[in-house]
Amino acid sequence: MSKITVAIDGYSSCGKSTLAKALAQKLNYNYIDTGAMYRAVTIYCLRNKIITPNGVDLLKLKNSLNDIEVSFKYNHVSKSSEVFLNGEHVDKEIRSMEVANHVSIIASIKEVREKMVTLQREMGKYKGVIMDGRDIGSFVFPNAELKLFMTADNAVRTQRRLDELSSKGEYYTFEDVRHNLEKRDNDDTTRKENPLIQAKDAIVLDNTDLTKEDQLEFVIKLIDDLLLTKDEFNQVSKKIS
Ligand code: C5P
Repeated sequence: MSKITVAIDGYSSCGKSTLAKALAQKLNYNYIDTGAMYRAVTIYCLRNKIITPNGVDLLKLKNSLNDIEVSFKYNHVSKSSEVFLNGEHVDKEIRSMEVANHVSIIASIKEVREKMVTLQREMGKYKGVIMDGRDIGSFVFPNAELKLFMTADNAVRTQRRLDELSSKGEYYTFEDVRHNLEKRDNDDTTRKENPLIQAKDAIVLDNTDLTKEDQLEFVIKLIDDLLLTKDEFNQVSKKIS
């Protein structure tokens, strides 16, 4: 059966990665969390004082880009791909609030985006990939067969993120987390380079009142229909040629 590219974009903490992981497992596709890539670059910038109290040292960042290597490895125990920065496993550190508070500024820098987009296109070139982020359907893979644009009520998103952080032993107030999500959404939708936009051919998925199972079932049905149409089309094309 043919393989497709699934692009999942949307606001922060809408459950994109939860859906993407479940889809990847179900379909035996690769899952690429592009937010994790920008977060890994942010760790590098924090550690190397490229992010300073006065802002981002752009010159230092541009000169350091060749020294930043972001990669993924599949973990057979957790059954998910984990992100590495220069060979170091940083899956836990990328989820910290410190990284969340600085990632959008790093992701707005043209040279950083160019490097990450090149990597993302390379990783997805054979299809059979579920990629989530902010610009996947609109820019990274504009020809993706299925594009989803996810959204959910702000309070619901904040609570989900708060629960995720506290499950990892990080405790913040509802207001702190809500502020971080709203600020990132604002930065991501208003930046110059590949802002978060809904691709014209994206299907909107508002999961405020959906369970994870309902959501997965809905998307699997979309993919099944798509694959069926694609395979039927391929068979007809073969007969004609
Ligand atoms: O998806 P996640 O919340 O981990 O993404 C972290 C940040 O990385 C986003 O707030 C956004 O600033 C940036 N990002 C991006 N483009 C992507 C994925 C993430 O700009 N494709």
